[in-house]
Amino acid sequence: MSTTAKLVLFGGSPAITLDRGDIFKWPIVTDEDIAAVTQVLKDGAMSGTGITREFEKEWAAYNNTEYALGYCNGTAALLGAMWACGVGAGDEVIAPGMTYWAAAAPALQLGATVHFADIDPETLCLDPKDIEHRISPRTKAIVVVNYAAYPADLDEIMEIAKRHNIKVIEDNSHGHGALYKGRKCGTIGDVGAMSLMSGKSFPVGEGGILVTNDRTIYERSIAYGFYERTGVPSNFNAPDAQITIDELTPYIGAPLGGSYVAGAVALL
Ligand SMILES: *Cc1c(COP(=O)(O)O)cnc(C)c1O
Repeated sequence: MSTTAKLVLFGGSPAITLDRGDIFKWPIVTDEDIAAVTQVLKDGAMSGTGITREFEKEWAAYNNTEYALGYCNGTAALLGAMWACGVGAGDEVIAPGMTYWAAAAPALQLGATVHFADIDPETLCLDPKDIEHRISPRTKAIVVVNYAAYPADLDEIMEIAKRHNIKVIEDNSHGHGALYKGRKCGTIGDVGAMSLMSGKSFPVGEGGILVTNDRTIYERSIAYGFYERTGVPSNFNAPDAQITIDELTPYIGAPLGGSYVAGAVALL
């Protein structure tokens, strides 16, 4: 458009002629999407459907991680990630002061406390300089949000976490496919959890997913919310369905104090 063109305000013609609705419509739903959903409905396979496992495999491959685990939403994925990292009653989690509440609130559900750290005004993400003085012997995890798909200073944050032997949970609900130094955001922390709800850049409806390379974290996430995947009987009323802690151990991984028992109780 020529710089001398009149603004619409002064009677000029608009530079963008597309319909507003066409530009801002989100999510984009294709005929292929509709056919895939219809097939699931026709199969009557809305629960326990293989398509979720297929998606997990493809998502893990896309992110170059060993494991991916699908959830009903991002909040549940964050809750699973926190529990898998050993967050339990009396523990503390550090989270950024500016984020959607689900990056922090699941800690309360586990009986833990949240300490909010400042964000860096340049990145809008957790400021590595404001983390360390908030770490106490009770701190179990740092939640990092790659805000609006802009990666946090993950190298610095990982270094701080390693030094204090605490886990890093990436809330990557804004950053599907975003890169940090050539690696996918969400895969740099010990575990990445992300929302896939309709407003996000990778929308599937209501949904969430967790990615990790850590076998113990993966198994603990399964133990917390996916009893049907552990291989133990799912009909808890059956006489032979008395599950003991010993039987669950291979699925949960190393016991982590009180939260281990809390999780087992939640499972049963
Ligand atoms: C959307 C969002 C969530 C929660 O996801 P839901 O799928 O709505 O549960 C968590 N964290 C951040 C940063 C988000 O933007």
